Amino acid sequence: MKKQIVVIGLGRFGSSVCKELYGMGHDIMAIDSNPETVSSMSDYASHTATADATDEGSLKSLGVRNFEYAIVAIGDDLQASVLCTLMLKELGVPKVWVKARDQQHQKILERIGADRVIQPEYEMGVRTAHHVDSEKVVDY
Ligand code: ATP
Repeated sequence: MKKQIVVIGLGRFGSSVCKELYGMGHDIMAIDSNPETVSSMSDYASHTATADATDEGSLKSLGVRNFEYAIVAIGDDLQASVLCTLMLKELGVPKVWVKARDQQHQKILERIGADRVIQPEYEMGVRTAHHVDSEKVVDY
């Protein structure tokens, strides 16, 4: 079933989530504060917008509250990530998934109501270790 998803922050993580979900046929709104980044994503989202995701007025006028999912992929700016997550939950977005850069960031996000927190580098590290561990040993 088609999902309504807003992706905020279009760096490496956010842009790949956005492209993949759009390719699967979901309805995607892609938001970033950098206009060049936004225009580079115009073929990979249903709608795009240049906006500061810490500005409540911008989030409201973009109709973010009508989306079922929000993916917050702002990694470096902790304050922006936290503020945006808080506002999305206050606006009533049912599922807010947020990228965290470390354990402390994750803890804060969980406290303020993020529905799921992702630490991509950490999670990929764990998966890579499991892949190496489970790879068949070849006997020469
Ligand atoms: P990645 O590892 O996914 O490339 P990152 O974790 O290094 O990204 P940043 O580069 O800090 O994270 O941010 C990702 C994107 O979020 C950038 O394209 C940036 O322009 C955007 N961004 C940062 N702050 C805001 C904001 N307040 N509102 C909207 N977009 C923002």
